[in-house]
Amino acid sequence: MTTDPGFLAGLRGLAREHAELLRPTALGLDADPSTGPALLGSDPRWLRLTGMPAAYNPDPLRVAGRPVYVDRCVEQVVVMEELARVDAAAVLALPGPSMSGFVVADIADEEQRDRYYRRLADRPTWTFFGMTEPAHGSDPASMGTALRPAGEDGAGLVLNGTKRFVGNGARAGVGVVFARRHPGPLGVVAVLLETDRPGFTGIPLETLGLRGLQLSELRMRDVPVADADVLGRHRPATRGGMWAAVRTFNRYRPVVASFALGVAQGAHDYVVAHRRQLGAGDRDRLADLADRLAGTRATVMAAAESADHDPGDGTLASAAKIRATALAEESTLLALRMFGPGARWEHPMLDKWARDARAFEFMEGTSNVQRLTLAQGHLNGRLDDVRPAA
Ligand SMILES: Cc1cc2nc3c(=O)[nH]c(=O)nc-3n(C[C@H](O)[C@H](O)[C@H](O)COP(=O)(O)OP(=O)(O)OC[C@H]3O[C@@H](n4cnc5c(N)ncnc54)[C@H](O)[C@@H]3O)c2cc1C
Repeated sequence: MTTDPGFLAGLRGLAREHAELLRPTALGLDADPSTGPALLGSDPRWLRLTGMPAAYNPDPLRVAGRPVYVDRCVEQVVVMEELARVDAAAVLALPGPSMSGFVVADIADEEQRDRYYRRLADRPTWTFFGMTEPAHGSDPASMGTALRPAGEDGAGLVLNGTKRFVGNGARAGVGVVFARRHPGPLGVVAVLLETDRPGFTGIPLETLGLRGLQLSELRMRDVPVADADVLGRHRPATRGGMWAAVRTFNRYRPVVASFALGVAQGAHDYVVAHRRQLGAGDRDRLADLADRLAGTRATVMAAAESADHDPGDGTLASAAKIRATALAEESTLLALRMFGPGARWEHPMLDKWARDARAFEFMEGTSNVQRLTLAQGHLNGRLDDVRPAA
């Protein structure tokens, strides 16, 4: 059982060992995100942590001799929290399936799935999930990116539009782009797209937080698309692009929450390790923070279990993301305050974590958007039977 405490403790221990590999490069990646592929692309050990399916993952992690593919939400939140205690940006900058993998796993046909995963297994390949547009962030259903017939004769399709704030977009080899093929929410499709196609450009954006992730703008001008690139084309529209996107959000939000939790825990641990002389007030504040870290960890685990059980329900995922992102900001700012006015200069990792913490507020939807999902879940009775995770 993945929720067995002994198994999860073993997995946490392995993740903690991997996390130490990220410490020497954290500040360098933050200073220059273009070094990401050189720093992170050549070590095959990372592929074992990114949720590659068994058929494409010949050397998986092992806990007590048993192979673990880190493809369940409960496994992912444990692993990602530990890695994020050192450098969440580096983990997000790893090659591998990431968010687009959820869409492929849910609605790709056999050929599409094999094309996608074989490429990732053959060589270090970054992927992207292209949803947000310059004028459509919190309201993706209004997206303008269009997939239309290429010509009068109806042969082939072309993609036109701009996506913005897309993680790893400029360094990706393949990804999933959401585009409108017909009016209405059911008219949104997911397209499997290699980035070397004509008309596709990925431009890195300058950011303050999670810089290693290299948020990008994707410009698509008459990019050729074959029918065989449209994910879920063999499925009913109600089980197509938008359906897969919502399920991806519901499963990835607990993971984003675990990143934020890891950053919050990292800042707490940094204070404990580096500030030995604490007054009574600061000791109380740290103790209070430790309690809230434990409470948030339980919420994140409950959300992960819920996402594994029913990826159609994002209520707890939103609750976990709201709580963990707020705690990451509080924890990193508290840590900076405890080191005095020069803290950002004298403790560059704390400065980096405080900048990274802010980015989680927007990633996968802002807290206002999560509150809407939470309220909807509450009105639908989805919180009635919630019990804290063991
Ligand atoms: C680190 C990071 C990684 C990201 N990765 C990706 C990625 O890989 N792929 C991708 O497609 N996108 C990605 N994004 C984009 C992210 O999903 C959007 O930034 C987010 O959805 C918010 O959209 P927006 O920035 O356009 O803000 P807007 O939607 O313009 O929102 C602006 C403000 O209005 C508020 N608001 C908006 N609508 C409502 C409402 N109905 N009720 C109340 N308040 C509202 C918001 O809470 C916010 O405070 C990423 C962003 C970040 C920061």
